[in-house]
Amino acid sequence: MDFALTEEQTAIFDMAHAFGQENIAPFARQWESEGTIPKELWPQVGELGFGGLYVSEDSGGSALTRLDATLVFEALSMACPSVAAFLSIHNMCAKMLDSFASDEMKARIMPDVLSLNTVLSYCLTEPGSGSDAAALKTRAEKTDQGYTLNGNKAFISGGGYSDAYVCMVRTGDDGPKGISTVYVEDGTAGLSFGGLEEKMGWKSQPTAQVQFDDCKIPSNNLVGEEGKGFKYAMMGLDGGRLNISSCSLGAAQTALNLTMKYMSERKAFGQSIDQFQGLQFRLADMEIELQAARVFLRQAAWKLDQGAPDASKHCAMAKKFVTEAGSKIVDQSLQLHGGYGYLADYGIEKLVRDLRVHQILEGTNEIMRVIVARHMLAEHS
Ligand SMILES: Cc1cc2nc3c(=O)[nH]c(=O)nc-3n(C[C@H](O)[C@H](O)[C@H](O)COP(=O)(O)OP(=O)(O)OC[C@H]3O[C@@H](n4cnc5c(N)ncnc54)[C@H](O)[C@@H]3O)c2cc1C
Repeated sequence: MDFALTEEQTAIFDMAHAFGQENIAPFARQWESEGTIPKELWPQVGELGFGGLYVSEDSGGSALTRLDATLVFEALSMACPSVAAFLSIHNMCAKMLDSFASDEMKARIMPDVLSLNTVLSYCLTEPGSGSDAAALKTRAEKTDQGYTLNGNKAFISGGGYSDAYVCMVRTGDDGPKGISTVYVEDGTAGLSFGGLEEKMGWKSQPTAQVQFDDCKIPSNNLVGEEGKGFKYAMMGLDGGRLNISSCSLGAAQTALNLTMKYMSERKAFGQSIDQFQGLQFRLADMEIELQAARVFLRQAAWKLDQGAPDASKHCAMAKKFVTEAGSKIVDQSLQLHGGYGYLADYGIEKLVRDLRVHQILEGTNEIMRVIVARHMLAEHS
């Protein structure tokens, strides 16, 4: 068993970290207050091969392992978890297209997806269905030319901003087997967006409803086979859970680094506050939890790379553990900064706000426990 990163993995992490520190970190607060990420950033990210991190070489992707991809998200989220998480969603969609889209479709769209000239959103949630995603109601009626879509998707990261939408829609009966995946390009007649949601965190990402009103798409925008869309959507989620956990991890590492520095400089009662043993113990607890989260996450990624039978269980366990650990660490970091932690200039309060949603999306942390318990019961039956 070897827990060390390879030279290549270290180089991937360093490249992503350097890019984030130069091109994202200095602007993260500005983008947050503007409520958007400049579109010009994405082709630069694409040049690094991050538009299709684990898309196969055959499709022109970087063909990295899931473990390698976690390093990219951990490193980028050290600059801004909101930007890193947005890239994670694009990559989840890109992998779905790589795995299931027809050769014709891949030839048509993949070059722009990989270069990030086409930014993708993932549309599963609806106003009436989140955790119970298979209850979705957006309808795609088959016509002579293709499909006509009617319905609404809720909470869509990149709604009204992205260039294309990978959408789970109902083509058949109720339940998961009646769901298909379709690709809807921005500008398609009948596609519109709700107003921008006001959110606690992830403020640089526009979030909006995606609405279909007799929205007509050609038949060759069906991804894979009819009736398999729910399976495709769920297959993307194991990796998505690793990515979002990595975003918590990187942000928590940044918060801890800032806290160590602050505590060495801040004086109280005649000494720097890092000399109080009670606070040293808090630092030690944060470090222990962070390192445990990192090892657990990388093990889950390794399991997914190996195709291990318990990979989904480990991805769910890691998502629950790492996102909660990340939130605890950034919250403790805020506390150790005293009143200054509450001020935007110190860089901690944004992380507290940004990480909170990681416990809610890509499957809530309650649903992660449902998955873990289901696996445990199956293993013991
Ligand atoms: C900022 C943001 C961005 C998002 N981006 C996207 C996106 O890009 N694309 C997309 O498709 N979705 C997106 N979502 C939606 C997100 O995936 C859902 O919010 C999430 O799946 C939860 O669904 P819900 O909000 O409907 O909550 P509900 O499913 O209604 O859950 C409410 C509560 O009940 C609990 N619960 C539900 N069922 C069970 C159960 N069986 N056992 C125990 N507890 C249960 C939940 O854990 C939760 O605490 C985003 C959400 C947010 C907040």
